[in-house]
Amino acid sequence: MLTAIDENNKIINLLELDRKELTGKFYCPSCHSELLIKNGQIKVLHFAHKSLKSCNLWLENESDQHLGLKKILYEWFKKTDKVEIERYLPELNQRPDLLVNGKIAIEIQCSHLSIKRLKERTENYKAHGFKVLWLMGKDLWLAEQVTELQKNLVYFSENRGFFYWELDFQRKKLRLKSLIHEDLRGRIICLQEEIPFGKGRLIAHLRLPYLAQKLVKIPTFKDSKLSSFIRQQLYYQSPKWMKIQEKYYQKGENLLTKKFEGPYIAPLGLNLLENFTDEMTITTFTQIDQNVKLYYENFLINFQRNSLEMLYPPRFYAIMGKQKKEK
Ligand SMILES: [Zn+2]
Repeated sequence: MLTAIDENNKIINLLELDRKELTGKFYCPSCHSELLIKNGQIKVLHFAHKSLKSCNLWLENESDQHLGLKKILYEWFKKTDKVEIERYLPELNQRPDLLVNGKIAIEIQCSHLSIKRLKERTENYKAHGFKVLWLMGKDLWLAEQVTELQKNLVYFSENRGFFYWELDFQRKKLRLKSLIHEDLRGRIICLQEEIPFGKGRLIAHLRLPYLAQKLVKIPTFKDSKLSSFIRQQLYYQSPKWMKIQEKYYQKGENLLTKKFEGPYIAPLGLNLLENFTDEMTITTFTQIDQNVKLYYENFLINFQRNSLEMLYPPRFYAIMGKQKKEK
């Protein structure tokens, strides 16, 4: 942690002080136990609990990555906006890493947390009128497939579809992954953009997915080995594919005899095969308030009409859908 209270009950922010100004004892603003001053491997001066047993706000001592990122983002925001670090919000009993302009909570998430806890924290922010932005450290970067936890950290906009924020502490970059799609194997297809730490106005970068902008798109690809992949999955009795095959059987169809032609890529959470059995599964996305079903429907209309050479944002499919109705 980078803040504490001193013996006079004054809040101390380590990022705004010199080491020599630090005298006396320091205490946790939450549990009031005495804190130690430490210097991590990457030389970010910070406070740490002697024992976390009695503290209900700090569950663990933070990693160097977390402390370093917090410091960098604090300084980046500070150039252009009002930013508070580890500001305790009593009505929520929460303490966001950073609070920007009094209403945007920034959570730098560097380690795994339970989906239940994530949902509680997110709902708590929303219920009190705060917007919460989760920016992910290395352990939570998107890899080949999207995990259940990551689905709950994904955002949505009409111009960028599903998107996700990553922080690269080593390479000093903020990364936006947008237009997130999955193929039938569950692999991710997305756009990736990087912004060097400290460049421009951070809050403006974080708003980018919501702004009017040039149409983005991703070319698709054909998966010529999809049929043999599916055969293999069924041979090894993969639960996911067994379930889909069962639905096909109920309709008098069989996945093994189906010919897979053309790209099978769909927006995150939309399973093209299950949809063809008329059972559209809508995954719950904790950070998303919009109903993404319309996006899925518009996408499917386009998917069935065209050969799907490109992937576009929701706005594109919405306009295409409207044009069709007017004709
Ligand atoms: Zn404490």
